[in-house]
Amino acid sequence: MGALFDLRTLFLIGSLAGGICAVTLFASRRIHRPSESGLAWAAVSQLLFSLSMLMISLRGIIPDWLSVVLGNTTGPAGMIVLYESIRRLCQMPPRPGSAVTAIAAVMSLQILLGPSLDLFATRLQITSAIQGGYAALMLPLLRRRLPADPRVPMLCAIGLAGFFVGVHLTRLLWIAAFGAQTSPDGQFAAGLLQSLIAATFTLAPMMHAMVLMSLVNGRISADLRRIATTDDLTGLATRRHFFGRVRERLGREGSSVAVLMLDLDWFKQVNDRYGHKIGDRVLVHFACLLRSSLAAGDHAARYGGEEFCALIERATEEQVRAAAQALCDAVRASPFEQDSLTIPITVSIGVALAREGGSVEELVSIADRRVYLAKAMGRDRVVDRTSAKRAAAAGREHASLPLHSAVV
Ligand code: GH3
Ligand code: MG
Ligand code: MG
Repeated sequence: MGALFDLRTLFLIGSLAGGICAVTLFASRRIHRPSESGLAWAAVSQLLFSLSMLMISLRGIIPDWLSVVLGNTTGPAGMIVLYESIRRLCQMPPRPGSAVTAIAAVMSLQILLGPSLDLFATRLQITSAIQGGYAALMLPLLRRRLPADPRVPMLCAIGLAGFFVGVHLTRLLWIAAFGAQTSPDGQFAAGLLQSLIAATFTLAPMMHAMVLMSLVNGRISADLRRIATTDDLTGLATRRHFFGRVRERLGREGSSVAVLMLDLDWFKQVNDRYGHKIGDRVLVHFACLLRSSLAAGDHAARYGGEEFCALIERATEEQVRAAAQALCDAVRASPFEQDSLTIPITVSIGVALAREGGSVEELVSIADRRVYLAKAMGRDRVVDRTSAKRAAAAGREHASLPLHSAVV
């Protein structure tokens, strides 16, 4: 059987596609800094595949030295460079020297074989052994990154590497069993299977580029999601993310759900006395205390500056108050310590029960007013519905106190 397709045209299209993919990958390399060098190497690999297909498609038109020797060098070189790209994208130590040495070895081998088409089968087998081998080397690298990377694009990358291992292995075994059929002019590999394999080579640059771009786009999305949902300094949730969590919880009936607002006392003095850097460490220390005081299902966030918030759920209102008081006591009992430096910290906490307000914004504003009340009452304390009412009553009795029912 002859070739299923017009292989010259097929390779020419593959070459053009490779060129377009190379340009796209190179132009996109800066969309994600950590993936930049990986994308640049991927662009070079597609350029090499493109050159290889161009030279093969021009067989009989350009000198055999170019078409046969260089064409069969640039193909495997493309896969070697793609392996180096995958190393970089998988955050493995780069090995550009090994890539260059391997390419030099492939080139020497091709020069040794010479341009004669008599060695057609041997040349195809060598090319497949190198390309299939390098595709196989990518598999463990990609598998190791699977837990850390966006799952679907990474699975596609593993699938693609596995697919090319299969393609090259099939070609190797097929030629070993049945020899290499050639087209009537003896220029191209022919037969149904080899034509299909040639078609996969034509599509390879597009497959590589799509998988790599979706992997990098997945990484960008994950980074953006992390930036939008996690506070840089403390690792707690951001206010925006926290509000979403509260909204989800408010819809559900249940036990006592409460929003806590927490404001560190006299924090400006910490900055003024010890500097901003130490101030930052105190904030991180406080965030750790806050996180460790939460039960499963509770959420904490950095509201902004030295203000934090938490969503907690306990069986009763008393238990909510006890949890807030325990946190307040724990903060007082756990000063920030570094070398010989000890900085005592305290926090004022306002508590709003979910049933006191209809929306997150309302709850936060009630809790916030109670924080101000806690500050006015001397700081380092918890103010909830009960203590706020008590304070308001006392305020009405003793008009001199700066507590007004408006802040309850
Ligand atoms: P109060 O007890 O009334 O809450 O007093 P305070 O000093 O804590 O409150 P104030 O609002 O006067 O000051 C808050 C300070 O928090 C001022 C600001 O410099 C500091 N701050 C806000 N964000 C950060 C941050 O990210 N890092 C550091 N180190 N300081 C911050
Ligand atoms: Mg404040
Ligand atoms: Mg404060």
